[in-house]
Amino acid sequence: MRMTRIGIGITLLLATLNVSVFAAPARLAIVIDDFGYRRQNEEQILQLPAAVSVAILPNAPLTKEMADKAYQKGHEILIHMPMEPISKQPLERDTLRPTMGKEEIQRIIAQAIHNVPHAKGMNNHMGSSMTSDLAAMQRVMGALNHYQLYFLDSMTIGASKSTQAAEGTSVRVVKRKVFLDDEQSDAAVLKQLNLAIRMAQKNGSAIAIGHPHPSTVRVLQNNLHQLPADVVLVPVSALLSKSITPVVTEPPHHNSEKKLPELTLAQRCPAPESIDKINPQLAYQTVKNTVGPSPLTLSLYSYLSYCSVSYHNASSIKAMVKE
Ligand SMILES: [Zn+2]
Repeated sequence: MRMTRIGIGITLLLATLNVSVFAAPARLAIVIDDFGYRRQNEEQILQLPAAVSVAILPNAPLTKEMADKAYQKGHEILIHMPMEPISKQPLERDTLRPTMGKEEIQRIIAQAIHNVPHAKGMNNHMGSSMTSDLAAMQRVMGALNHYQLYFLDSMTIGASKSTQAAEGTSVRVVKRKVFLDDEQSDAAVLKQLNLAIRMAQKNGSAIAIGHPHPSTVRVLQNNLHQLPADVVLVPVSALLSKSITPVVTEPPHHNSEKKLPELTLAQRCPAPESIDKINPQLAYQTVKNTVGPSPLTLSLYSYLSYCSVSYHNASSIKAMVKE
């Protein structure tokens, strides 16, 4: 039913909008870290577009509650794994340390996966000491290899060994490019957001990390709906290479335990060539200006982003296979 309504929306869009044509929009992923402690700010983050990803600490008072709420709203979830920093500061329970052996690291990661349901990836909380230790990170990647989780390196230290440590495993590694809120003022956060946008435009994609601070919440509330027309907001998984897996988490279907059949990209996204030419951000703006902001408008936006990015990934893989 929902897909039919969205399908009609798409058809209307295709028929009535003369949207600008972009071969492939620049992709910007935004992750908000440190979820699990501040209910009010975190709930404000969950009101942002579903393409904003959230990273949840595995042993915080609100871990399970926030994971469930984020999942209900379609946000991509990461486990925000505490890792030991070089500087002395208070640490979370079960912080991974370079001195820990394989079994202990496996146990802590398995527990974190249990505590943060629906996670698609993991990123490090702190971790300058842990992530710069190759042998320790090899133990982490070895543990992650059992699960289909990607690793987003928060890059709390330049000498991080995550990429090297993942060699020989199936763990895909991506890296943070911009921190949004090292300085917590609206002006500073906006400046960093604009930097992330420019980096995405220049390089094709970028990942920015922020925290549930009031200034970050305000700047994202005021600016995510007016990103430049050539930039699309995507979950982190949309930036993994070698992937044509779905990039927007579908909200769960409540009243039915029935498993839906797997759909191909062509079935999920009719006329993918046409969809690839639509800029989801621009389409979202147009629909929002016409019918106003609503869950359906946001769903349409997520759907267009999903199809646009999936189709783009599928074509680049096809191109690679041809060579
Ligand atoms: Zn953190």
